Amino acid sequence: MKRIGITTTVPIEILLAAGYQPVDLNNIFITDPNPERLVSIAERAGFPLNCCSWIKGIYGACLEHKIDTVLCVTTGDCSNTIMLMEVFRLKKLKVIPFAYPDQPDRQKMQDALEALAKTLNTSLEAANRVRTELEPCRRLALKLDELTWKEGLVSGGENHLWLVAASDFNQDYRRYQKELGELIDQCRQRPPYPPDWLRIAYIGVPSVYGQDLYKYLEDNSARVVFNETQRQFAMPRPGDSLAEQYSNYTYPYSIYDRLKDITAELKRRRVDGVIHYVQAFCHRGIGDIIFREALKLPILTLEGNDDFFLSQHLKTRVEAFIDMLQRSRRQTKIAEEV
Ligand code: SF4
Repeated sequence: MKRIGITTTVPIEILLAAGYQPVDLNNIFITDPNPERLVSIAERAGFPLNCCSWIKGIYGACLEHKIDTVLCVTTGDCSNTIMLMEVFRLKKLKVIPFAYPDQPDRQKMQDALEALAKTLNTSLEAANRVRTELEPCRRLALKLDELTWKEGLVSGGENHLWLVAASDFNQDYRRYQKELGELIDQCRQRPPYPPDWLRIAYIGVPSVYGQDLYKYLEDNSARVVFNETQRQFAMPRPGDSLAEQYSNYTYPYSIYDRLKDITAELKRRRVDGVIHYVQAFCHRGIGDIIFREALKLPILTLEGNDDFFLSQHLKTRVEAFIDMLQRSRRQTKIAEEV
């Protein structure tokens, strides 16, 4: 299959139906053994220092992996992608724009999907057949999520890895299904995490720290039981059609649509505190104002740029946050006993 780069989660059912293999450029950037090198390819090409590292990494990954066709999301993801798309054009790459509707409207989504299918010379009937083929993968991803928060058998880091990979199913959905099925079988044999560990929600775009943040939390008796965006990539509310599935997917729409999903999950998963990750120079960071107003739990906002690990400074902040949550939990317990 011909590879097509994607800059965020898109209706991959249509790409697969058209004979393309989607490649999430974010994933190959962040899992590269040397992501700094991919960022520097973009900086040498003229991308400004104060441009988000994900955008630069996507550019570097695309050139490094010799991907010549890219589907760029122009509405519902990142305004920087529009200029990235123009640079790809300059470099003679084939770019295909895709715009999510400005609000989660089923008819508008249907129109957008039909237009994309037409551009790629396929049909929504064919894409729906692919949707059925992908269903077991999506079900397994959501099962892994359930084993994370409900049964305490899966780490927050594993949860992150497998859910974030649902954007392109690691470029091979059959292998994804097999490997994830095996992992779930193994997880069922594990002892659960201690029930008194703090339960943390991670909201915002995936971080540049990879597994570091999850591991550090676990070193301090806290674990992530909710990865907001990553879970959305797995399509937790698939509905009964592609149009419904991508209308229920919250990431491209207003922060208030995301908030409905986040608040319901914080309650359901009995979360103690929230880590909001923001990427330096990203417009989504402004949403922190709204989260702090709307969420009734303690929030730690972490901003990452191009350090692909958790620095000592960030570790100290995470530790202080955990300490505060533990003290507040002890105080609540004492108050309940009195
Ligand atoms: S982190 Fe923000 S600025 Fe960077 S690619 Fe994502 S949406 Fe765009």
